[in-house]
Amino acid sequence: MSLFNKFDQLARDRAALLSSGFDPFGAPIEQVFSPTEALINGRRIILAGTNNYLGLSFAPECLSAAHEALDREGTGTTGSRMANGSFSGHRALERELAEFYGCRSCIVFTTGYQANLGMISGLTGPGDVLMIDADCHASIYDGCKLSGAEVIRFRHNDAADLKKRMRRLGERVSSTLIIVEGIYSMLGDRAPLADIVAVKQEIGGYLQIDEAHSLGVLGETGQGLIEEAGVGDQVDFVVGTFSKSLVGIGGFCVSNLPELDLVRYVSRPYVFTASPSPSVIASTRAALKLVRDGRHLRERLWRSARRMYRRLADLGYRLGPEPSPVIAVMVDTREQALAFWYGLFEHGIYVNLVFPPAAPGDKSLVRCSVSAAHTDQQIDHICEAFAALRPMVTSATAS
Ligand code: PMP
Repeated sequence: MSLFNKFDQLARDRAALLSSGFDPFGAPIEQVFSPTEALINGRRIILAGTNNYLGLSFAPECLSAAHEALDREGTGTTGSRMANGSFSGHRALERELAEFYGCRSCIVFTTGYQANLGMISGLTGPGDVLMIDADCHASIYDGCKLSGAEVIRFRHNDAADLKKRMRRLGERVSSTLIIVEGIYSMLGDRAPLADIVAVKQEIGGYLQIDEAHSLGVLGETGQGLIEEAGVGDQVDFVVGTFSKSLVGIGGFCVSNLPELDLVRYVSRPYVFTASPSPSVIASTRAALKLVRDGRHLRERLWRSARRMYRRLADLGYRLGPEPSPVIAVMVDTREQALAFWYGLFEHGIYVNLVFPPAAPGDKSLVRCSVSAAHTDQQIDHICEAFAALRPMVTSATAS
């Protein structure tokens, strides 16, 4: 026995899967030409596996804000928000996010992953209950582990199952945090938020939503599913990330509850890590304005997403349950998914390859994400590649 025995199987699987080409996991992007085009493995490729939903990563407003902050404040803060790492920009962004959501306060974290870790472990501990949707992101699961609270999973997007499990808790509902996501990252489906809010109102507990993939994408001003569903005032904590529509890196939580301010002092993933760089904060502030005023981008994004979803469904691919900027093709085996990924790459398209357990169920996913920056021609090209490769995926026919 050694420390590394557990890697044996992984090493064998990896060698077998990768014998045919370069590594799809973490394939280096050698040069970035635009939000939708890059040089990968020496080829000019269409990017259809980023989370750049509004296509803002080269927005002049974001670039100049970042340049100015870099010149003014340097490359990094070199410290935690609790020590030397809270600059006026971090505080300003917290005010602006709180204002954007019409909330009392906001905490900015260093990543979206840490926002979940920090909020869940800051809010709950042994003796409390975490009631989470079974398909929640790894950062939510990891936050649950760090918290030490009892974790109960309810069936994905099943408000009736949530209700049943909440009822069983009796008086413990008062120290229960329910966690769902806006748009789920793997299949692109969204939470039945009005039904979930109704359960909370009837039985009790607190509700946190992770809008990582829905911020910028849903709602009149891009707040996310809370805005689209019109239930913002019923959700206690809204978590999000800067790494998708906001095209930076970092995360946040907004809330109307005054206790949010206290979470800073007890949240280890907030206290014991360095804060985001001033240039990232500055570009995120600029991106937030573009997101808020980005109705035209959302319209363009949804037009492309619906068109691509419909085309892939018509081709007989098995997809997530509803059109969304996240379009995932379910494939039965890893080998098929890998071959399919290489096939798309040969057609000049980069997407995400997802194996279980990162994908829900036991399926592998070829996960695409649509951007408002994709041209109609790029969407057509992607759809044509899926049409050409259709025979490769034998068992993924829609039922
Ligand atoms: N929550 C969800 C639902 C996510 O999908 C992700 C990342 N994909 C995160 C949180 C973590 O965000 P980040 O990558 O910005 O740390």
